[in-house]
Amino acid sequence: MSEPPLPESSNDVQLPTEFVQRLKLIVPAEQIASVLASFSATKPTTFRINTLRGSIDEIVTSLQALKIEMKPVPWFSDSSGRPLAYQVAHEHREQLTHSPIIDEGLIYVQNLSSMLAPLVLGAVSGETILDLAAAPGGKTTQIAQMMENTGVLSAVEPVKKRMFKLRASLERCGVSMTRIYQTDGRTVGHKTPDRFDRVLLDAPCSSEARFRTGDPKTWETWSQRKIRETSRKQIGLLKSAIHATRPGGRIVYCTCSLAPEENEQVIHKTLKKFGAKVSLIPFELPIENVQEGLLEFGGKSFDPQVELCRRVLPTEVMDAFFIACLLKS
Ligand code: SAM
Repeated sequence: MSEPPLPESSNDVQLPTEFVQRLKLIVPAEQIASVLASFSATKPTTFRINTLRGSIDEIVTSLQALKIEMKPVPWFSDSSGRPLAYQVAHEHREQLTHSPIIDEGLIYVQNLSSMLAPLVLGAVSGETILDLAAAPGGKTTQIAQMMENTGVLSAVEPVKKRMFKLRASLERCGVSMTRIYQTDGRTVGHKTPDRFDRVLLDAPCSSEARFRTGDPKTWETWSQRKIRETSRKQIGLLKSAIHATRPGGRIVYCTCSLAPEENEQVIHKTLKKFGAKVSLIPFELPIENVQEGLLEFGGKSFDPQVELCRRVLPTEVMDAFFIACLLKS
């Protein structure tokens, strides 16, 4: 096996050079230092209160018994302003994750970026929803919670081991409205055309958000060739997601990759293929570490609508993320 490429400067220590160089073309110059630093930050543990297992007050009381300092996430609350997400310092992670609170499904440990996609999807009780790449179930359980377990929520996961993890998450969190399908998401659109009010595609990706400085295992399968391959799969999945959506319905596409080939380019090619049948919807994210969709990368230009996509830039708390919201007309 070849040696990993050498880092460029002390700032970028032990991230692959190719990745860092690409990042410098994606992220604005004034933010690159903090973005690179985020890959070595010891991030707090963040979690979501699962109101399918109790009221916010009951769950917060159980959490307080652990005597861990918890900081509410200011932008994620219920309709009366009570926080639905918290962060605790990394040093308390073990204590939290080994407490019965997790096994009882009272909370779901999840990165804050990941909580944004279901908020953009905006599913409400009674709707028919598809989660096309669902395991281990962070977003499926959040969607079920937003729908108060009422309506139809279909969750797709082709990998058996991960499908079992998904099932375990749903059971633990008291989700009773979901049917799981172990199948390739690319086949779903043709089997169930025009069926769903909203479809979430949290696409399999190169997981660049999970790179950790000094931990080569986190990027051992990463390469530009792999990004191109993944991009083709993502386009197939997004096509299927659009076919499965009813006219007038909404599709949220997201990844935890920073690569434009897996993000803007997937949206650009999809817009080109579907023409007037699909358009992008603007949406607001309740955070500041956000960048508009790029309109060009690697010598390729993208449809002007792609600007409406949002890239969440990683911070000392949040992981990188990308979200696009599409309307099927
Ligand atoms: N939505 C999940 C959550 O919030 O917990 C995370 C999903 S993860 C980013 C992507 C998932 O897509 C993985 O579980 C992977 O096994 C699955 N996947 C891979 N290929 C797929 C395909 N062809 N169709 C549907 N899902 C696929």
